[in-house]
Amino acid sequence: MRITEVRVFVTCPLRQNYVVLKILTDEGVYGVGEGTVMSNEVVVARYLEHIKELLIGQDPRNSEDLWHLIFRSGYWRSGPVFKAALSAIDFALWDVKGKIANLPVYQLLGGASRRGVTVYGHAGGREPKEVEDSVRSFLERGYKVVRCQMGGYGGSGVLRHEPPLREGLPGIDIFEPPRYLLEMPRLFEHLRNALGMEVELCHDVHEQLTPTEAAWLAKRLEPYRLFFLEDPVSLEEREGLRLIRQSCATHLAIGEIFTEREECLPLFQERLIDYIRIAPLHVGGITEARKILTLAEPFSVKSAFHGAGDLGPISQAAAVHLQMVIPNFGVQEWTDFRSQQALCDVFPTPCELHDGMTRPNEAPGLGIDFNEELAQKFPPRSYYMPMLRRADGTMHRF
Ligand code: MG
Repeated sequence: MRITEVRVFVTCPLRQNYVVLKILTDEGVYGVGEGTVMSNEVVVARYLEHIKELLIGQDPRNSEDLWHLIFRSGYWRSGPVFKAALSAIDFALWDVKGKIANLPVYQLLGGASRRGVTVYGHAGGREPKEVEDSVRSFLERGYKVVRCQMGGYGGSGVLRHEPPLREGLPGIDIFEPPRYLLEMPRLFEHLRNALGMEVELCHDVHEQLTPTEAAWLAKRLEPYRLFFLEDPVSLEEREGLRLIRQSCATHLAIGEIFTEREECLPLFQERLIDYIRIAPLHVGGITEARKILTLAEPFSVKSAFHGAGDLGPISQAAAVHLQMVIPNFGVQEWTDFRSQQALCDVFPTPCELHDGMTRPNEAPGLGIDFNEELAQKFPPRSYYMPMLRRADGTMHRF
């Protein structure tokens, strides 16, 4: 069996661009993969166009060897663009492998270790009562874990919004930590009084604090028993997790922009985190994500894979397959693609949610397809991450 053709697409069926890879073989079986890196989609696609030649003529069943072939193909072997391209190839090879075996990928990885993959949804609001109502709407729909944010993406520390320099560029949020630091304990005090202590609630700091500020916050949130506090410090300041650990026993999660196992391992060994937030899409696919979670297992670190809307339905399916199997599964961040018809048309058929849990589709391979004719009707668009500045105009961290 040989790879005969590799096709690369960037499509934007709704709001987000998705990079899709299709590997075709001489036996008519094909596999689909995804290599989306938010706001760098066309860069990943161009890189895939460059390296796809290395795959032509290879046996797609040798996914481990092909992983290393691509990994060693560049003198530089790291970074999000390179790892996303490698992941897209890895996903597509696992899809091919499952189709040949006539089994869903999770069966090839070891079979089901649980009834399904528990997910968390994103609740939000401008003030505590609004957040409470939003959390309740998730609980009513069966969610068992809910992320709670107040005041939009920048949190309640956003003092005001300023318009972009010109149309098409991101606007600027003016952020000051003190208000955010004071408002978050007030939010969780309200939520615990209203909802009780049992429901699982988490919160994402979005890397906006210094280690000292983060330790101050984590200590004050400790009585409210968070499922986890996410990205309390930035990737660059992850050494600061030690200070938080010394201050309290709030569960910590980090890693959604990690791309390397070497970023994860020291945090496991020093027992600085409870959940690793990597996405298989950004570390090298199912093959590498599984190895990272094996490294995490002896240190009681569980998966909490990144799964916001910037990662598409193929990536989501791959993450769900892997988390059906690994012993140290924690939770999966959830985007409901099933309710977005345009996405279901281009990517039949995304994973489904029942009572707060998802399962892989039982079709052979990843269980998700890609309508390439339709996808080409939705060209990619340009967008940028929001910008944060302090009140005096200084660029804020992240
Ligand atoms: Mg996050």
